[in-house]
Amino acid sequence: MCAIFLCFWYYNRQDKATLAFAVAFAFGAIGFTLNHFVLAKDTLANAITHNTFYAAGLYLLLDGIHRAFSKKMPVLILAAIGTSSVVGATIIQASPAELSQRILWINTLQGCMFVVSAFSLWGIWKRNWTGATTYAALLLCTLNAMTLAPYNIIRSMITPETFFQTVYWGTMNVISTLSLLAMGGSLIAVCVMQRLNALREDAERDFLTGLKTRRAFEEAARQYCANRSGDIAASLILIDIDHFKLINDEYGHAAGDAVISAFGTFLMRQTRSSDLAGRMGGEEFCLLLPGTDMLGARQLAIRLKRTLADLSLAQLPDHANITASFGVAELGARTLFEDAYPMADAALYAAKTRGRDRVVCAEQPEDPGRPIRRQRYPVPASQPDTAGARIAS
Ligand code: GH3
Ligand code: MG
Ligand code: MG
Repeated sequence: MCAIFLCFWYYNRQDKATLAFAVAFAFGAIGFTLNHFVLAKDTLANAITHNTFYAAGLYLLLDGIHRAFSKKMPVLILAAIGTSSVVGATIIQASPAELSQRILWINTLQGCMFVVSAFSLWGIWKRNWTGATTYAALLLCTLNAMTLAPYNIIRSMITPETFFQTVYWGTMNVISTLSLLAMGGSLIAVCVMQRLNALREDAERDFLTGLKTRRAFEEAARQYCANRSGDIAASLILIDIDHFKLINDEYGHAAGDAVISAFGTFLMRQTRSSDLAGRMGGEEFCLLLPGTDMLGARQLAIRLKRTLADLSLAQLPDHANITASFGVAELGARTLFEDAYPMADAALYAAKTRGRDRVVCAEQPEDPGRPIRRQRYPVPASQPDTAGARIAS
């Protein structure tokens, strides 16, 4: 387990969760080895060292799970319980108490650490299947620690002399190992899924702008349009930077790249988190606006056009003015993405042929949806840009 988590960590050194898992399983293994093969059984030295490794390992394991699921760990409570488990076990071992009392103490307190974490990790099972399996493994470990040891020790009245030969001792170790393996297995699944998601996100992001690539945008937009309710409005805006070739020619390709990159950031800042933004290639961008009708999309396009005038870049001289042309189309109740895109493209083409630096809207659909949250795109004071600019008008 330790080696597997170290491999994950090696390929992503920022990921402290996988490092915590690796060290946790290493501590568990060291504690187990010391307890069973190195130190004399039922001695104070053994009790202190192996319980310290177990408690620290458990603390790190829980720390890793909280990190992996971005949950806040109750650090002080878990550290206090972990320390108490070791201190208490040492005191019990030093006194002429029964061995069963030490086992009971350790298991109950470690069970408490799982219980506290079960509260602080509440809800992770809803996120995805790895959250569900991890939470299930956590509950299994809790049950194991809280019920199995006390129940069996109290029932069978095991004496220290015979304790390590009992079926109970063997069974307890097997069940503990199995629940830890279940935990380890689901944590490996967590790491694999996180890595796969990170790789997929990387592949879907345009490296220059951070927006979706054309392929990822089209896939997401197609999916949205196919599944959306026709009652709710949706619109597309296609944007193309004007005379971009001139920017490249006059200020160099690096400056052109900087403009594209700044334009991507600009679009992300100016749109809602529910909007979809993609770089369709070169200096052409597309926005899909769920819940926005033609009026709202037009207002947004006008705002983008105006705000763009304030965009200044270190790579360009002050007088260099970046402008863009906008094609807006609203989707009808049953319009698919592949039907709406050519409409927005035709509107963009019209904006280019009519002199650029303007917003042109396609014909309104006959069966438009209802807009939601229109107020989020504020209405500019006047809108001369689109006057008489509709393709159909
Ligand atoms: P128009 O107003 O008609 O859109 O004119 P334009 O010059 O912007 O049009 P066109 O689409 O013909 O030119 C786009 C240019 O963008 C051509 C290409 O060299 C450049 N380009 C495409 N991708 C990149 C890129 O990633 N970085 C840079 N710097 N330039 C790019
Ligand atoms: Mg262009
Ligand atoms: Mg272009």
